[in-house]
Formats: sequence, C-alpha cells, structure tokens
Amino acid sequence: MERTILMADGQSFYASIEKAAHPECRGKPVAVGDPTRRSGIILAACPVAKERGVTTAERVGEALAKCPDLVVIRPRMQTYISVSLLITEIFESFTDQVEPYSIDEQFLDVTGSLALFGSAERIARLIQTRVQLSTGVCARVGIGPNKILAKMATDNFAKREPGGISELSRANIEEKLWPLPVHRMFMVAGRMTAHFARMGLHTIGDIARLELGEFKRRMRARMGRQSDIQAEYYWQTANGIDPSPVVSGMRSQIKIINHGRALKWQTYRTFADIEPLMLELLIEVCRRARRYGYMGRVVAVAAAETDGQRSSGFGRQMTLPRPTYLEHELSSVVRSLFLTHWKGLPLTHLHITLTDLSRDECYQLDLFEDRSRLIRREKTVDAIKERFGATAVIRASSLAPTAQAFERAVQIGGHFA
Ligand SMILES: [Mg+2]
Repeated sequence: MERTILMADGQSFYASIEKAAHPECRGKPVAVGDPTRRSGIILAACPVAKERGVTTAERVGEALAKCPDLVVIRPRMQTYISVSLLITEIFESFTDQVEPYSIDEQFLDVTGSLALFGSAERIARLIQTRVQLSTGVCARVGIGPNKILAKMATDNFAKREPGGISELSRANIEEKLWPLPVHRMFMVAGRMTAHFARMGLHTIGDIARLELGEFKRRMRARMGRQSDIQAEYYWQTANGIDPSPVVSGMRSQIKIINHGRALKWQTYRTFADIEPLMLELLIEVCRRARRYGYMGRVVAVAAAETDGQRSSGFGRQMTLPRPTYLEHELSSVVRSLFLTHWKGLPLTHLHITLTDLSRDECYQLDLFEDRSRLIRREKTVDAIKERFGATAVIRASSLAPTAQAFERAVQIGGHFA
C-alpha cells in the first residue's frame, strides 16, 4: 500500500524560539551561542543573521566581525526540548504515528488521516500555521511515499522554496531528484562524494540508473568487499526505496509501572496482615500511572514467601478486558491473583506491575458505571496528596497495624527532606 509520509523541519529552530521569546529582537539578526565567549560556537542563526553571512558552527567572534549588531543569546536546551515536545503534540492531532528524528525534525505517517483532512498539502499547511502560532517556528514540510523521499524533499526542496512545502513522488523523482549532484543525497558527505566522482557518478540519477549489481561492483572495486551493504543502501536511497515504517512513541515511552517492597516475614503471616499493604502498593502503582498518563491492560503480582525453613515464590499476570488505572478495577484482580497462587506462608516480598500500557487520552466508557467521574475522583485525590502530602487522604485500611502508609511518609520525609 502506498503511504503518505511528511517530514517537518523547524527553520533555525533554536534561534526562532529565542526570537519568539524576545519580541524586541524582531527584524534583528539573532544567533544562539555563549555571548561571553568569543571562541564559542554559534549553535543556530536566524534567517536575518544568515543573510548577513552568519553560519551555524562558526565562532561567535567571527560572526560578530561579519555582523557587529548580531544579538547573541545564551542557549536554553530544556526550553528547546519542551518546544519540540509541544510540536510533537501538535502533530499528534493529525496522526498518532509521529516519529521524532532530531530535536527539530519529525516524521508523520498521515496515510490514515487523508480522508479526514483532505490532502497531504493541506495537512502540511495546517501544520505550518499551528506550529508558527504556538511556537514562532516556521516549519518546512517535505512529502513523500516513504521516509527517505520525505526527508530528501525537505532538505533539497522545502527548505529552499518560498512556501516551505515540497513533494517527491514516484512520478516526479526522475525529473526532480535525479538531476541533483550526489552530495545532495541523504547521508552522502564529502568523502563519499569524492568516491562517487572517481566512479564517474556525479548526479543522484547516475547512481539510480545503474543496475544494482553493476553499482555494487564499482563500489567494491573502490572500497572493498565490505561495501555491499552500503552500496545497496545508497542505490535504494537514490531510487527512493525505503520500507522502514514511521515508529511512533519514541519519546521516552514508559513500558512498565511497578512498585514493590521487601517485608519482614514475621509481620506478614495472614491475608489480613497482607491485604492492607497490597492495597497500598496498588494505589501507588495507579497513582504513578495516572501521573504519567498511561493505563495498563496487564497486571502482574509477584511474591516471595517463607516460613523460615521452606521458601517459594510466584509471579502471575492477568490481562484485563480494557486498559485501566482505576484502583477498584485493579484491586479485585490483584487480590484474586494473589489468593490463587499464594501457598499461605509468611511473605518476604510483594511486587505489583502494570504493563501493556496505552495513553489515557481515550478510554472505554461503561454503560453501568461512570468511569470518567471515577477517574476525576482518583485524580482529585492525587492532587490533594501532591499538595498536602501522601497521608492527607488515605484508605481506612491504611490504619491497620501492618499497613505502611504513615510509616513510609515519615521515612521519606526523614530521608529526603
Ligand atoms: Mg532545522
């Protein structure tokens, strides 16, 4: 199936963010770097500064010599990362398949969104408007049937054309991409350009038009036998072949939420001793899941037990009918998993894990129970605890002698205050 992939790139990313944050710099040449070190490096320059000859990676002193009124602003990396995540969120309103490629470049697979938004060009324009309005960054968008063509459309055309949008397709690659010199091909730098020149290959089309076997032979003759994989890669790139999918959720996705504790076995002998603690562990797992914004579909209980002579343990999991982080939905499952597999010996360890996580932005509603209301209620309790401390609101079961909520709160206060 033909896919429609966009590659969106933020123009002069750091400099554009700083320009948006410093309205007094409007129209002025702005660069990001350390203003106190003339030997430091320019990390980014705005288009006005670039017109005046300032280039990325040159020395601050050299840039100031060319452009004395250059405003040099100290970098704020944490801010740039936050803006990058904000842009990811904007993209996620068009498709759930967004793959950050670098801090200012992201791939979007919009194949499934075309029916909703009209066309790839329209999505590209909407993206440009929304990114500009919410971050001050101008996005340039390349469109293609796969990632490699979308990327080359961005780098070779969208960045150089006034509208900032360009498409490479099977139909136009021969006329649009192939006449370009080889160094404009993705992943080809100076050294490779020289190799290709020696092989008589000067344009991207020179590589694309060669039969793959012949190209491999020429590469081998120049670069040795181990060059076959590289040859295949360059040949596919020149021909716009790239089966790799857009992989979403690359940004530090959480895969597992767990909480557990080592226990004094003399204390945790009966289920009445164990249950209050089990509930506390589960509440903590749920609270973390809500804070990160993930629901889980698989819950696991692991326990170790001993009577001082015999020891054993188990780890069992259960898949739920729908993802959740609601305490009452999980507690009955955890309880029955434990009671089914526990041999009845005193406990030395108990661990609860939530996996198969999915974002909590959409979840299954229930005809008989108002899940949205329950979620709001549990989040309200979370907010109270966040503000007034972990013991501001507790379950009555945490008053049991084997519960640990109070003790833990004091310990953590003692250790980390
Ligand atoms: Mg950029």
